[in-house]
Amino acid sequence: MTTLLPVHTAAAPRARRLPSTGALPAALTDAFARPMRDLRISVTDRCNFRCVYCMPKSVFGRGYAFLDRDELLTFDEITRIAGVAVAHGVHKLRLTGGEPLLRRGIEELIERLAALRTPDGEPVEIALTTNGSALAVKAAALKAAGLTRVTVSLDSLDDAVFQSMNDVRFPVDRVLAGMQAAHDAGLGPVKVNMVVKRGLNDHEVLPMARHFKDSPFTLRFIEYMDVGTSNGWRLDEVVPSAEIVELIGAELSLEPIGAAAPGETAARWRYVDGGGEIGVISSVTNAFCGTCNRARISTEGRLFTCLFASEGHDLRALLRGGVDDEALAAAMGSIWGARDDRYSEVRATLTPELRAARPKPEMSYLGG
Ligand code: SAM
Ligand code: SF4
Ligand code: SF4
Repeated sequence: MTTLLPVHTAAAPRARRLPSTGALPAALTDAFARPMRDLRISVTDRCNFRCVYCMPKSVFGRGYAFLDRDELLTFDEITRIAGVAVAHGVHKLRLTGGEPLLRRGIEELIERLAALRTPDGEPVEIALTTNGSALAVKAAALKAAGLTRVTVSLDSLDDAVFQSMNDVRFPVDRVLAGMQAAHDAGLGPVKVNMVVKRGLNDHEVLPMARHFKDSPFTLRFIEYMDVGTSNGWRLDEVVPSAEIVELIGAELSLEPIGAAAPGETAARWRYVDGGGEIGVISSVTNAFCGTCNRARISTEGRLFTCLFASEGHDLRALLRGGVDDEALAAAMGSIWGARDDRYSEVRATLTPELRAARPKPEMSYLGG
């Protein structure tokens, strides 16, 4: 007999039972006592944008081999993994990709995830990160399906700059309309993610700050990261968060505020005059591995314990081999228990050659 917690879902799939693999604690912790609280699920490796820092056209061109449909986790499989994670301490699920709104029937998946309950009987938070291109059309249906809130990526308000970054001539206005639709549908507070790359859009930091101050949208600046191997990352193209805070603070007074939740990625600053807040995500200059509570499921079902992990653990093979929830939980527990990742903390000690030689999954496959 084990003390495993049941997976609480409206429609838990039945599975063949394997021999018992031992009891697991209610909450999973890793080698540094970090809990698994946040599960990010990549629902597609495809995207309709070709952001230069994520899916450059030179790599993700016409001939690029995206995953076949039968390689993707099915909604049943995603729901089972999420259900086990929620039974063992995960409070937040984030759907991402690639562009998650390209996954056909995403509303149905959200409905199923929204039926999950924590061991205390609480619903989980279901968030989604999107480029916003389909939000104007989909926001109301996503809300009706049970989505809690959205984060929208937007790197500039200037059409020429934005289009040069998304590289598919997608106009700013349509993303802004999507954000407004999400807000109107009740998917707020909508967060806006801006990746800042020196020489490309750093001159847009202040216009973005001015635009979103005194608005219902919370702007967050993300340091350009060395995810994957295709974006040709260079340290001198990273704009440190401290520089961004100083730049904005010189015109619009800011003061720091505490984290809203444990393990939050963004350091928060508020406008002294009450005009709202901004966040800075300093993955390069001020790593936050010490509180990192995020697990990731890649598009074809590999569990990654870090955005920079060289390998993921194949949960899809377990699922398709007929594993039951108990053995799935034991597998996830032992993977998380062995976790000792802290790449962003050690990045600075690696030479550019060592960094380049290290295999790293692309963000579009792993999920941002
Ligand atoms: N397509 C969706 C979107 O763009 O919001 C979701 C997936 S995207 C990979 C998730 C987040 O990762 C986005 O906010 C994106 O800006 C960010 N991102 C992608 N590549 C990045 C990089 N090299 N450095 C920092 N952030 C990056
Ligand atoms: Fe697509 Fe998002 Fe990557 Fe841009 S950041 S290419 S929108 S997955
Ligand atoms: Fe978490 Fe890895 Fe990022 Fe550190 S580098 S914050 S461990 S995902």
